[in-house]
Amino acid sequence: MSFLSQLFGRPALARSVPASAPAPARPTPGPAPRPASAPVDGGAGRTKQLALVIDLDVCVGCHACVTNCKQWNTSGQAGPLADLNPYGAGPSGTFFNRVQTYEVGVFPETQTVHFPKSCLHCEDPPCVPVCPTGASYKREADGIVLVDADKCIGCGYCAWACPYGARELDPSSRVMTKCTLCVDRLENEGLPPAERQPACVLACPTSARLFGDVHDPESEVSRAIAERGGRSLMPEWETRPANRYLPRRALRDDAEGRG
Ligand code: SF4
Ligand code: SF4
Ligand code: SF4
Repeated sequence: MSFLSQLFGRPALARSVPASAPAPARPTPGPAPRPASAPVDGGAGRTKQLALVIDLDVCVGCHACVTNCKQWNTSGQAGPLADLNPYGAGPSGTFFNRVQTYEVGVFPETQTVHFPKSCLHCEDPPCVPVCPTGASYKREADGIVLVDADKCIGCGYCAWACPYGARELDPSSRVMTKCTLCVDRLENEGLPPAERQPACVLACPTSARLFGDVHDPESEVSRAIAERGGRSLMPEWETRPANRYLPRRALRDDAEGRG
């Protein structure tokens, strides 16, 4: 059974609708990256790992998370994010979060499934050790994977190393970008405490997006993962994604013999 079938509970057909703008082509890599020099914490000693947990049962594909992510990160510390020719032919731009839509199952028992995807803040992130300047790093305090724009030379090695296609080279600034978990909201004392969360989480009208510490067994996200069988994306790549997906009910029903 394919990974998408496991998540969706039905075979996935080969139809995918891109987010509001097509993902830019991956940058062409230069010479092979030099050996890693920066140590990477595999997560063994880290007590906190912030992450998103996304409920595929209740995501309706509205793109509110995409829009609010783009808005915040265009005007926040990560911005401005490119948005080129948005209403013309061939629009392109930088998005940290995209929602892909699949038709799954075999007619007449098909379903439309929406699959939000952003950087998974992997505990063993292959995008970090390949960076020749140290611009790509994982924060020790909370496990967020970030890019230091001042050190980034736009070589594209990290984008090639990421197996999820989660990094986008901004076509205007030529700096690598990705989801920051809205780090500039989390400790932002200019915001009310209730708003010190990722912009996508605040925007989601169905509460499909949970946010918290997946290393804390008592957190809301850890309880949801335990109770709903939260899955990692492509665990065979051994990146140990911090983000998880709560699978569709059809899978849970099948697994429990009620399908
Ligand atoms: Fe790096 Fe990709 Fe993992 Fe994000 S999803 S931490 S960019 S390997
Ligand atoms: Fe975008 Fe922030 Fe959500 Fe990441 S956490 S997808 S940067 S809104
Ligand atoms: Fe899905 Fe929520 Fe994003 Fe809408 S805002 S696409 S329901 S995750």
